[in-house]
Amino acid sequence: MKIIMAAAECAPFAKAGGLADVMGALPKELSRLGHEIMVVVPKYSLIAEEYTAEFVLKESVEFSFKGQQKTFGVFQYDQAGVEFLFVENDSYFKRDQIYGQPDDAERYAFFNRAVLEIVQREQQPPDVVHVHDWHTAVIPFLLKEDPRYASVQAAKTVLTIHNLQFQGKFSKQTFLENFEMEEHYYDEGIVSWKGNFNALKTGISYVDKVTTVSPTYRNEILTEFYGEKLHTLLQEKEQDLIGILNGIDTEVYNPATDLAIEREFDVMNLEEKQVNKRAVQLKAGLPERGDVPLLTMISRLAGQKGIDVLQEVLPALLEEQEVQFVLLGSGEEKYEQFFKGLMADFPTKVYVHVGFDEAFAHLLYAGADIFLMPSHFEPCGLSQLISMRYGTVPVANKTGGLKDTVIEYDESLKSGNGFLSDFQQDEPYDVALNRCLSFYQQPEHWEAIKKNGMEGDYSWSRSAAEYAKLYERLI
Ligand code: ADP
Repeated sequence: MKIIMAAAECAPFAKAGGLADVMGALPKELSRLGHEIMVVVPKYSLIAEEYTAEFVLKESVEFSFKGQQKTFGVFQYDQAGVEFLFVENDSYFKRDQIYGQPDDAERYAFFNRAVLEIVQREQQPPDVVHVHDWHTAVIPFLLKEDPRYASVQAAKTVLTIHNLQFQGKFSKQTFLENFEMEEHYYDEGIVSWKGNFNALKTGISYVDKVTTVSPTYRNEILTEFYGEKLHTLLQEKEQDLIGILNGIDTEVYNPATDLAIEREFDVMNLEEKQVNKRAVQLKAGLPERGDVPLLTMISRLAGQKGIDVLQEVLPALLEEQEVQFVLLGSGEEKYEQFFKGLMADFPTKVYVHVGFDEAFAHLLYAGADIFLMPSHFEPCGLSQLISMRYGTVPVANKTGGLKDTVIEYDESLKSGNGFLSDFQQDEPYDVALNRCLSFYQQPEHWEAIKKNGMEGDYSWSRSAAEYAKLYERLI
């Protein structure tokens, strides 16, 4: 099959979160299964030169956008059987950040059109166009409704929702100006939802299949509590809504070969993990002690991630117990301030690095004992999977993909790979965390929990096969 994917992020080129990890790994696995895969991404100026130096200009495309002739360059980079194409336009993508720009609506409208121009220029049209999250979700609508793309209209379409919270909501005027489609699409509720133009809603309505990134999140988003005001729409689409669990790139995240960590290790020589713990403590300026549990969190600092829960739990924990905590993250100012305040209050126990740092993230996954993930909702979550692969024990809240991947440790069977709270059932996070800490003091159990985590299969092979099956059924 020939599949064209489009997304706003893709690892290792441009990453803000889990979407990039998926785009870096799933296409490779589909290519391994024998399919022809093309991935289209904006060519942000923040992409490292080690990659852009290898990019090859494939073509320059001129097309009409917002009533003007616009040009974009298409750069090609082949890796692991996947053709990555980068859309270059300085006025839209020469920015220091991926998202959060005042003209995001226009930037991604431009990108949607650019992707369709690329699709249309393919000698052999794709069997499937697979888009991800709101940034590319208008593509299926344009593909079906704009006569410009009549020649590729037969392609089947799939939308994957990586996070329902982000929908790309804008005004009617923004829709009309950016897409130059007729007003009735808005007025009849085809692209609008509850008084706004809604990019994600448009995608959900138009695609042949909607997928999301874990079976539990798939069921959750059909409810009012998790449905982000789209649950009634999703209920209508229930037959075409599928949950496929994400994997991780087990080559990128491999403690036995990872060059970003201090000392490689695997399940047979787990004691080497300690070398990484000392390296974290040294970098963080914390006492180099093997016997004190080292807690970490690597995350976007957003409400979803349950930082409010840590605000409740961490000060008392740090006051009362011998633990260390290292945070790597960035996001909302109030949360950054909270963690910085925590470091000021507990300088020998807490280290906070505000920012995005891929290499430090790897070292932390390798060196920490416990990974904190008290998310209020979590479509899939990759951090808990990466943690487990590096023998770091997750303490997570039982929601979405966390529920599908973290299994509560059972001391009589020595089964399970982590610890769970359940906010819906009034099982608080500090109880789960203290349960975890009590096992840290019992080496025989602690070894078992770490090993269970490391021996889990988090590879993409099973999930990629599910996507392939889905495409096959469609065509
Ligand atoms: P989300 O996509 O909601 O942000 P996921 O758990 O699915 O959450 O994926 C987060 C990904 O981003 C993981 O690979 C994690 O290691 C990475 N990450 C998050 N914050 C940072 C950071 N500050 N520095 C480096 N990597 C980060």
